[in-house]
Amino acid sequence: MGNSVRKGIAVFVDQTRIKSVQNSALGAAAAGPHPQLKGGRQTVEGYLCKGSVVIFTGTTCSRYAQVSETLTLAGTSYFTVQLDQRGDKQEVQHALWQLTQQRSLPAVFVNKSYFGDAEKIFQMHRDGTLRDLLRTELGSISEGGYDYDLVVIGGGSGGLAAAKEAASFAKKVLVLDLVTPSPKGATWGLGGTCVNVGCIPKKLMHQAALLGQAIQDSRRFGWEFEQQVSHSWSCMTAAIQKRIKALNFSYRQDLRDGKVAYLNAFGELVTSHVVKATDAQGKETCHSASMFIIATGERPRYPGIPGDREFCITSDDLFSLRHCPGHTLVVGASYVGLECAGFLAGLGLQVTVMVRSVLLRGFDQKMAQKIEEYMVLHGVQFLRPFVPTKIEQIQDGRPGKLRVTAVSTNGKETYEGEFNTVLLAIGRDACTRNIGLDRIGVKYNQQTGKIPVDEDERTSVGHIYAIGDVQEGRLELTPVAIQAGRLLARRLYGGWSTKAGTHTHTRAHTHRQCDYANVPTTVFTPLEYGACGLSEEAATEKYGQDDVEVYHASYCPLEWALPSRDKRSCYAKVVCHTPDDERVVGIHVLGPNAGEIIQGFAVALKCGLTKGQLDATIGIHPVCAEVLTDLTVTQRAGDAAAVRGGC
Ligand code: FAD
Ligand code: NDP
Repeated sequence: MGNSVRKGIAVFVDQTRIKSVQNSALGAAAAGPHPQLKGGRQTVEGYLCKGSVVIFTGTTCSRYAQVSETLTLAGTSYFTVQLDQRGDKQEVQHALWQLTQQRSLPAVFVNKSYFGDAEKIFQMHRDGTLRDLLRTELGSISEGGYDYDLVVIGGGSGGLAAAKEAASFAKKVLVLDLVTPSPKGATWGLGGTCVNVGCIPKKLMHQAALLGQAIQDSRRFGWEFEQQVSHSWSCMTAAIQKRIKALNFSYRQDLRDGKVAYLNAFGELVTSHVVKATDAQGKETCHSASMFIIATGERPRYPGIPGDREFCITSDDLFSLRHCPGHTLVVGASYVGLECAGFLAGLGLQVTVMVRSVLLRGFDQKMAQKIEEYMVLHGVQFLRPFVPTKIEQIQDGRPGKLRVTAVSTNGKETYEGEFNTVLLAIGRDACTRNIGLDRIGVKYNQQTGKIPVDEDERTSVGHIYAIGDVQEGRLELTPVAIQAGRLLARRLYGGWSTKAGTHTHTRAHTHRQCDYANVPTTVFTPLEYGACGLSEEAATEKYGQDDVEVYHASYCPLEWALPSRDKRSCYAKVVCHTPDDERVVGIHVLGPNAGEIIQGFAVALKCGLTKGQLDATIGIHPVCAEVLTDLTVTQRAGDAAAVRGGC
């Protein structure tokens, strides 16, 4: 803030009354400024963002002390700008004169509009109208004296959860959310990645692909149909987009119902307690808050090669693509790449995956290998180890045709191929570089943009928190972001005040931290892969090979018997820490509905499940999950996992 600005006892503003600079006296006078005076106006504009009541004064101004005392008596607070201490005093004073048509100081502004000079303030004080006028201008106040108790930057999975939870404790909360269009122009509504361009459309497209397989299987169950079965991309995307729009609407409704203020605007911290919100039209407003949560998520990364932004798409574009992508190259072989490749192939498209190193880095590699085998069986080609170096358009159209040049990672081989669509899935970058973190001293990883936080989700600046995908070293999953957001809001506000009758949290609940251990996850490849806990590799590294026992089995779902689907594709494995009573430290399932299966077992893992307890559990017959209750073959005894089940 510098020496020239002093802060009064408390700052208070009401968000509903915040006016844009364009609407204020400043905006009205802003038409056609003299170029030399433009700087002065910008300076004034900047200061007007610092609080709802701002006093411009000079160090020798005898009436400043009286004005500030009068405002304090009226129950308000203020920022003070000392003009004498500025090198550009003249420009600033001229800008003030333009706004107020007054040369006298101090000049008091409320909500960015000129409120009056010393005489006017004293007059209102004598009349007894000052307090009421200020109250009318400023409206209600938050507990800490700021516009809001909490401003959440980012209205995705984590941000919305935190905001709603905080508001349920009668806190004054504002959510800022704005989607910057993708290089291809895709944009979407409130709710963040998961609902718009992540989990939801992905799972629905996965389901579309599974239904295609079910249609094929159904003949073996007696269904007869003559019509040629085909798939309409546009029909599927229209239905999915309609669903997403309904969800966007319900999220907005939820915020309204929960009394959370929402602005469709980009948030950038301008001081440690003030955020500037810029909407899609460029209109700016400023809002102060006692606390902030950064929940700005991530966006797809581009490799920075010729043609990438111009011709390639990412998952941000795929789910609303108006035309069928056709023959597709997917670059990247982790969650996003494999899931998209899987459902595109399931919809009958020709798909190639370009792999730089391994599939699903960080996951159990035996499971990754089996995923690859199954995808190959279902028509997906894998090209490895290559990275793309150039993308050129050779034919315009929807889809057009692209030429891809790539090089092997050892630099010895080159590859050239033609595709209708190139889908980049090479990772995601945290949206943290242009939100003012440097300005206010929030530390973040300069390479990844990720924000380190402590176990309370607190950043290096005490009243600023970060949740969800922007956090460093945490799983990037929707339920993780939601849990972290909810628990954070409960810790911040749950112990203070509750709306009568709405909360029954115990003290333990309001102090609970987010537990990031043993989070279950599922990769929605054609054969789903559900996992919880450690991979075999991670367990071996942690405990040593001798202390780890792996039980495994291939299994065949009964439903696959009639269509004679591949017997050995489905696979389950349990990783145990032997000296600790064979405690289960990892469970892995590859098969239909693996996500549904792993969810329940994750609870058991949280409760300290042992292999003995798994064995003592009676299975349900005939379901896929029963395989986990009857694992007798260890990997140590040989790699040939017996095939269980109904095939
Ligand atoms: P987000 O949900 O990304 O929300 C951040 C919001 O902040 C966005 O709306 C963004 O536009 C906005 N924003 C950014 N900067 C600003 C700013 N300065 N001002 C205002 N607003 C801003 N997870 C699962 O658990 N299961 C799945 O099946 C799954 N599938 C996925 C599939 C794909 C293709 C992808 C890409 C992700 C998937 N994920 C899945 C991950 C999941 O979507 C994320 O982990 C989750 O959305 C993270 O939530 P978040 O709140 O951190 O961020
Ligand atoms: P990841 O960072 O997990 O994977 C990136 C992939 O791209 C890796 O295979 C990587 O290879 C490869 N890659 C990176 N750079 C290049 C390059 N220059 N050229 C070629 N290949 C490259 O990112 P994702 O986008 O797949 O996933 C992001 C996160 O989103 C996940 O961690 C997950 O938490 C979440 N998500 C969750 C889902 C779910 O729950 N089902 C679904 C989708 C996403 P290498 O291994 O060599 O580094």
